[in-house]
Amino acid sequence: MIIGAIEAGGTKFVCGLFDADYQDCAKPSVIARASIPTTEPGPTLEAALDFFARSAEDKGLSKLDGVGIGSFGPVDLRLSSPTWGYITNTPKPLWRDTQVAGFFRDRLGVPVAFDTDVNAAAYGEYLWGAAKGLKDFIYMTVGTGIGGGVFVNGDLVHGLTHPELGHIKIRREASDGFPGACPFHRDCLEGMASGPAIGLRWKTRAEDLGSGHEAWELEARYLAKAFASYAFVLSPERIVMGGGVGLRPGLAERVAVCLGEELGGYLPILDDGERLSAFVTRPRLGAEAGLFGAAAIALRCCAD
Ligand code: ZN
Repeated sequence: MIIGAIEAGGTKFVCGLFDADYQDCAKPSVIARASIPTTEPGPTLEAALDFFARSAEDKGLSKLDGVGIGSFGPVDLRLSSPTWGYITNTPKPLWRDTQVAGFFRDRLGVPVAFDTDVNAAAYGEYLWGAAKGLKDFIYMTVGTGIGGGVFVNGDLVHGLTHPELGHIKIRREASDGFPGACPFHRDCLEGMASGPAIGLRWKTRAEDLGSGHEAWELEARYLAKAFASYAFVLSPERIVMGGGVGLRPGLAERVAVCLGEELGGYLPILDDGERLSAFVTRPRLGAEAGLFGAAAIALRCCAD
């Protein structure tokens, strides 16, 4: 099948054309890809559409079989809703109440799978990555924002809307006077540990802080507090951590150590360093988890 995939992010839309087979467990191959800056909705969506049309024509393909979109959010995922496939009350004002999935469905005339960026990435890691074969796991992204896709009993959790793992409250460290950066809750996890929060707290970009800087111990501690809550509430077999901050070398290992302290010995199955470092892992699809994830949800949609 020829699948179009979009990782729709707040700064760029990463688009890919895939040659893929749902029955085949192997990671599919990318035929063409493009990165489109996220500007206003109209020009951004048109540029993505244009990429699919042009790259299909270049390869002599008449039509795509389906499109998968993993989007920044919040998004409306209720199939019965008149605003299914919309980005809803995002802090990005230009994108508020924007129809995304319906745009590609109507213009290309193909089935479109639409989910959050993290749910899509979770599905990609489930088919081809660090969560292959697991029925219960979490995919986290820690970067400009913090979010997570939750897999329970072999499927993604949607529920009322979709999980928002980045907006839970965490106990702040006594030494930390930073007020928090979330426009909705101030000192939720995202408000305390996202890339922008790190930048505001330490008055420099997160990527410029050396690995010995105390910022990273604090970051690991906050993530571990949240991961302990997820472990107690959802009982995942693994937490896969990606994203611009999450992929920083050494961070997953530090989070695993702090998680052991946060759990306080209450989960004997996670009572040693080796088990903890297998519990908090990096995505095997790396920075491509989002794009491959979008292809993965499209494949599932076409196979249904
Ligand atoms: Zn928040």
